[in-house]
Amino acid sequence: MFRSVLQLRSGRGLLIRGLGTHRGGSTLDWDEKVSEIKKKIKSILPGEASTPLYDTSHLPPEHSDVVIVGGGVLGLSVAFWLKKLQKKGDGIRVLVVERDHTYSKASTVLSVGGIRQQFSLPENVQLSLFSVDFLRNINEYLAVVDSPPVDLQFNPSGYLLLASEKSASTLENRVKMQRQEGAKVCLMSPEQLQNKFPWMNTKGVALASYGMEGEGWFDPWSLLQGLRRKLQSMGVLFCQGEVTRFITSSNRMVTSSGEEVVLKRIYEVHVKMNNSLEYQPVECAIVINAAGAWSGQIAELAGIGKGPPGTLQGTKLPVEPRKRYVYVWHCPQGPGLEMPFVANTNGVYFRREGLGNNYLGGCSPTEEEEPDSTNLDVDHNFFQDRVWPHLAERVPAFQSLKVRNAWAGYYDYNTFDQNGVVGPHPLVVNMYFATGFSGHGLQHAPAVGRAVAEMVLDGHFQTINMSPFLFSRFHLGEKFQEDNIF
Ligand SMILES: Cc1cc2nc3c(=O)[nH]c(=O)nc-3n(C[C@H](O)[C@H](O)[C@H](O)COP(=O)(O)OP(=O)(O)OC[C@H]3O[C@@H](n4cnc5c(N)ncnc54)[C@H](O)[C@@H]3O)c2cc1C
Repeated sequence: MFRSVLQLRSGRGLLIRGLGTHRGGSTLDWDEKVSEIKKKIKSILPGEASTPLYDTSHLPPEHSDVVIVGGGVLGLSVAFWLKKLQKKGDGIRVLVVERDHTYSKASTVLSVGGIRQQFSLPENVQLSLFSVDFLRNINEYLAVVDSPPVDLQFNPSGYLLLASEKSASTLENRVKMQRQEGAKVCLMSPEQLQNKFPWMNTKGVALASYGMEGEGWFDPWSLLQGLRRKLQSMGVLFCQGEVTRFITSSNRMVTSSGEEVVLKRIYEVHVKMNNSLEYQPVECAIVINAAGAWSGQIAELAGIGKGPPGTLQGTKLPVEPRKRYVYVWHCPQGPGLEMPFVANTNGVYFRREGLGNNYLGGCSPTEEEEPDSTNLDVDHNFFQDRVWPHLAERVPAFQSLKVRNAWAGYYDYNTFDQNGVVGPHPLVVNMYFATGFSGHGLQHAPAVGRAVAEMVLDGHFQTINMSPFLFSRFHLGEKFQEDNIF
């Protein structure tokens, strides 16, 4: 009779092993027999196609040196730099696990694509300086033979930060620091503002800072796709599925201060494939937590924050999704092409969106106003009450405008100090973070990816000292506060 038609490979899906070779001795001819078998197969298994019965090409590999959780801009940047900086002949196997290849909720594609040099911390200025250089030379990094060049649709334009009397000296000090770091930023008086931007009402503005180089906005989707294409050419593996569990080994240790700690190491990642009831186990040496707004949940899966309060073991990764609205409006009498990205004295921001007198903008809510983050619905009253009055005051032409579009996205919000988390966890020793940038992760992704890769490959940061971004600051209570967040 027929040899085995189907064979179940334990835990890794159903594989067809081939039909048997029996001929003769039957009342049915060979073609009818095959057709009968195919019908039987269809009745046992879901799906229409019988060859291949179950395509396994989408499954993750059984082993990967590095598993990256999250295929947003930060995850892909880490993958890029791991492959780029690996030593010749190392051939590190890198797997990116992304649960949604449409990126419908990913911050990267819902962001407004801005890059600026004007941060309150020197390290963030350094990150921006490297990132803008990366974007400028994108095709030196991401070119792929026989493929068209990456077009980021970069729109060079300065950021204009407005300060009231109360915040003017802080702004001045920050500009001094930004210049020391090498950023090209100038200060402007209200009179200078009025001359350069006559459409602006400068009431309540005591001082402004304006980026003269290395600032603007670009298309995040193009960057993501450019990275993805490059990574495929570099041999990085991709899999669509959700990381649901980590299997760890533990080791009890006593620190030099006599404290007993449990060090953990993840050795297996479970990936649940879409439309599957099973998970696929992937053995690995290193896990990168680049799950954006959801990276707090990924940390929890690894047991981070599950110890007694006040201990390192009990310290959570303080990153959570915070909903932010972006509104797009049309204003026929609005400012022209010379309009910069404006951050108003009260945090309302706006900029041009393409040509044709379209603009976009928004504002972060106060802690008390934080909207429900379980969905991405837009609150149009927020524009009416909290955004538009300030737009209309600052740019009189905006008194009359028409909102044409709006969307919401999640900030990967670090509730502790609104800054990134980079590098390994002190107890789950092979989980590395690239997350928590709270509204500036897109622009910093090129530099952060490089920093994480340096840490993984060399054990320390090589180019920018990212030590202040380490997780341990949450336990020590040492804030590394970034104040220039809109
Ligand atoms: C409205 C808005 C405007 C912004 N504007 C700017 C700006 O102008 N400039 C700037 O620099 N930044 C901006 N940001 C912030 C920036 O978008 C983020 O900091 C950055 O995109 C974070 O990248 P990421 O890769 O960490 O996150 P994401 O792009 O969200 O990617 C994380 C991915 O992880 C996946 N994932 C989560 N959990 C799992 C799991 N268990 N298994 C598998 N996959 C999983 C998700 O599906 C997601 O695709 C803005 C954000 C918003 C919302």
